Amino acid sequence: MNPAVPAGVDGRASDALLKLGRFFSRWEESDDGRVAFRKGGRAGDVFYRDRWSHDKVVRSTHGVNCTGSWSWKIYVRDGIITWEAQQTDYPSVGPDRPEYEPRGCPRGAAFSWYTTPPLESGIRTRGVLLEMYRGAKQRLGDPVLAWADVVTDPERPRRYHQARGKGGLVRVTWAEAVEMIAAAQVHTIKTYGPDRIANFSPIPAMSMVSHRVGTRFNHLVGGAMTSFYDWYADLPVASPQVFGDQTDVPESGDWWHATYLMMWGSNVPVTRTPDAHWMTEVRYRGTKVVTVSPDYADNTKFADEWLAAQAGTDAALAMAMGHVILKEFFGDRQVPFFTDYVKTYTDLPF
Ligand code: SF4
Repeated sequence: MNPAVPAGVDGRASDALLKLGRFFSRWEESDDGRVAFRKGGRAGDVFYRDRWSHDKVVRSTHGVNCTGSWSWKIYVRDGIITWEAQQTDYPSVGPDRPEYEPRGCPRGAAFSWYTTPPLESGIRTRGVLLEMYRGAKQRLGDPVLAWADVVTDPERPRRYHQARGKGGLVRVTWAEAVEMIAAAQVHTIKTYGPDRIANFSPIPAMSMVSHRVGTRFNHLVGGAMTSFYDWYADLPVASPQVFGDQTDVPESGDWWHATYLMMWGSNVPVTRTPDAHWMTEVRYRGTKVVTVSPDYADNTKFADEWLAAQAGTDAALAMAMGHVILKEFFGDRQVPFFTDYVKTYTDLPF
């Protein structure tokens, strides 16, 4: 397998780079461009040595709106990022608590795949859908008619829906991809009305221009705009509502100071990998750890207690807990600690 391209991604994505033979050694490719071979016994090992070779190491991080922003060593060869490893020079935080290191997560460790030009350039779409679209366009000569022909067919949509999640992505030109997207939107507007278009635009924090362009386009066609928080759902709306500030929360290092930790809505070892060690380490101090999760998630195995709420009911559970706290510490009687806390840290007095 071509080590410069992750499994499942169309091998042709690397064609241009491989054929240059400039950054990686030459090899034989299978006809579909998905598999690369190198013959010659031990001499074939150069394949791997080339993969990890580099001529300089620089410091960087992953600017993908990841709040981690951990420090990474970036190994570069001929101007191309070839691989990454965590920096190990964070300052010590003292003898009485764990250090920050090691920082990083598996997603970050694979980040070089995203920045290497063969993967960055071009756009990929589902092969089976592309073939259907091209066939229909050849017959009908019009993009909108071609899209309608595919999606209104009783059988073909089932085939490309079932292909989802199974790889099979192939490269297309931007022109063809944009044409398909435009045809799909025109067909949907003609058939169902503009409010049946739901769009998502890149997050404003990372690219204001892309965000605005997408939002403006969507508003002009009369579609429904979804927000980036709808998309990846990582900001509890209650956070700004209660605290008056967006994600005004302690950093994960403060977990080390907790005596009671509840993991709820985050599968910490998976979604906050670099911070998870504080959760596991503080348990040695006797901190109680509770997980609220409908499934036996990765973080559940660390918990002293597992509250397996029925899927879809955790909002009701949280509201019930809030109700009890408000009733018993604020409604039926005033508890000074509670009153002092909400006056100091929350919007409740307003
Ligand atoms: S958490 Fe992962 S993706 Fe985010 S900066 Fe750290 S290594 Fe990169």
